[in-house]
Amino acid sequence: MKLNTRFMTKNDCYKAGRKISPQGIMIHSTATPGVMAADWYSRWNKSYQAGETSRQVCVHAFVDDKEVWQYLPWNHRGWHSGGRANNTHIGIEICEPGGFSYGKGSAMVGYDTKKNESYFRQAWQNGVELCVSLCKTYGLTERDIICHSEGHKKGIASNHADVMHWFPKHGENMDTFRAAVRSALNETNPSSTLPEGINVGDVVVIKESADKYYPGGANIPNWVKQDTYHKVSQIVSNGKPVIKGGKPCVLLGKKVDKKSGKESAGIMSWINVGALTVITQSTKAEKRSNKYYRVQVGAFSEKENAEELLEKVKKAGFEGYIRQD
Ligand SMILES: [Zn+2]
Repeated sequence: MKLNTRFMTKNDCYKAGRKISPQGIMIHSTATPGVMAADWYSRWNKSYQAGETSRQVCVHAFVDDKEVWQYLPWNHRGWHSGGRANNTHIGIEICEPGGFSYGKGSAMVGYDTKKNESYFRQAWQNGVELCVSLCKTYGLTERDIICHSEGHKKGIASNHADVMHWFPKHGENMDTFRAAVRSALNETNPSSTLPEGINVGDVVVIKESADKYYPGGANIPNWVKQDTYHKVSQIVSNGKPVIKGGKPCVLLGKKVDKKSGKESAGIMSWINVGALTVITQSTKAEKRSNKYYRVQVGAFSEKENAEELLEKVKKAGFEGYIRQD
């Protein structure tokens, strides 16, 4: 991700100079076909009060397939949500590609999904990477990321459709966006020594690419993959991991409605963990992955002594490490 910074010092929002401590990120898309991230500087670096523009608007950054342009300091209150989210959320616009127009409301007329797929993937990836970096800077997680239309549902943003009028054209939505941010956060967090796995209570989706529940098992019907999320109800059987077709499996015991989150009787099938993407982690897993309580067993001035004790600790069956202050 290439990050460029140039503040919109003529924009009234910049001049207002109000600060926030970011508690979330709101994802928008521009609804302006073909105008890329760098182009917005000349469009928006203007003053409404001085009569240079007809709109009072500013976001923190624009993202396209090539780069990110940051136009406000991240802790500066933006004017992007049309609601209370301006006080809490960093606003990011993902630029929409050209070659189509807007019909009534948020209908993208003549939008060629196939032609725009590679643009979308790269812009999406830049958006994910920017969110990962902001999450690390401000101690946020993927759960703190919403789009404009989700903000409206929460009552903290105006009634806009972005980005859910666009992402689904490429088979994505805000849940999969958050999942992508989470998995990137986990990858870039080397201090996390806990195994990445699936826990009871996790809400998952079956990957489009999976065809059988496990090697040698039954075929997965399309509706099971596409129409619903699932909740993991068992990860062991009689206290033991379940291996089928040579792969570790978990039991999908409940269906979870994609929109309402409502639960109902599930498919009750064991499925290879590799066929799943976690959409929401169970609260138990969240607690586990966010907090560590470390136990110190000794402090020495000689490194040898520390190494000797670490050996004992390991022999006793515990993981351990030496840290030098
Ligand atoms: Zn928006």
